[in-house]
Amino acid sequence: MEIRAATIRQKGGPFRIENLTLDEPRPEEVLIRIVATGMCHTDMVARDQLYDVPLPIVLGHEGAGVVERVGSNVKKVAAGDHVVLTYMWCGHCRPCLQGDLTYCQNFYALNFGGAREDGSSSTRDAHGSLHDHFFGQSSFGTFALTHERNAIKVPREAPLELLGPLGCGIQTGAGAVMNALKVDPGASFAAFGGGAVGLSAVMAARVAGATTIIAVDVVPSRLELARELGATHTVNSRETDPVAAVRKISGGGVEYTLESSGRPEVLRQAIDALAIRGTCGIVGAPALGTEASFDVNGVMTTGKRIIGIIEGDSTPDLFIPTLVELYMQGRFPFDKLVKFYPFDRINEAAEDSEKGITIKPIIRLAL
Ligand SMILES: [Zn+2]
Ligand SMILES: [Zn+2]
Repeated sequence: MEIRAATIRQKGGPFRIENLTLDEPRPEEVLIRIVATGMCHTDMVARDQLYDVPLPIVLGHEGAGVVERVGSNVKKVAAGDHVVLTYMWCGHCRPCLQGDLTYCQNFYALNFGGAREDGSSSTRDAHGSLHDHFFGQSSFGTFALTHERNAIKVPREAPLELLGPLGCGIQTGAGAVMNALKVDPGASFAAFGGGAVGLSAVMAARVAGATTIIAVDVVPSRLELARELGATHTVNSRETDPVAAVRKISGGGVEYTLESSGRPEVLRQAIDALAIRGTCGIVGAPALGTEASFDVNGVMTTGKRIIGIIEGDSTPDLFIPTLVELYMQGRFPFDKLVKFYPFDRINEAAEDSEKGITIKPIIRLAL
């Protein structure tokens, strides 16, 4: 079928909206009419080739839409269902079999490889095949083809155009707090980085019952929003030493920190700001090969833990509907992070996001 989709043909972009052809779904696949797709930092990482992603490609990995048609073996969803598209996992490797879907051994190939697991793609222009299946979806287009596995059914009462970011950025921050760190009632937590992931973590920490919630960032408007979303304290790390500030507020260090800025020096701060036996979660992605340092004795003698977290350790079929429910109850107001852009302003959305003007852009593919 004919679609309109945004392609990246060279390192650094720009996104170009083109008319392309998309194949019909295979037996286990789902064709989705995309309503709106969030833009995530990882789209820019792929555009700028900080990760090795083949070009030309259709990006987009926070899609939300309506099921148009399903393949003959699909059982999970049916035509007309509202779905959020999330990351892809293989379902047959050891981590997948253990339920650790976000640590699938084939995660990189399935999410960044630009093709299905068998190496095929489903998008073409007049000259031949393009790369697609970015995070199993490539949803910067009017339609997307996914495996039924990463199409997550959501309630029809929820505002579909808002829900795409739950598939990646929002579940990354919220899941890090709720599933990975398991922040508990009465705990102290500090989010280093106040973008979409960090602010989602702040909201989740409030839901989890943390009583000291500190947001650390350099942009005053983000810190202000963090207060609105549940932060009990904010620290502008351009003005003050964030480690000293967090240690002072919490009386010696916080039990949990989350590093979402992707900067090694901030990771160091997030480790140093921990209390004895505290845990630091890493969700910020720097360029491949980046190394960071910490004081070995400082970590060892205090029993600190440092853990990597992908996609908030989320089992999407369970966790995404939970986040929708929390939103509908007014307890997880992630709509305060978003700004909508029409499809033909997708490059402006990327620019606003990189400048920090917009926390979470959402591209509308259909009205
Ligand atoms: Zn797997
Ligand atoms: Zn993402």
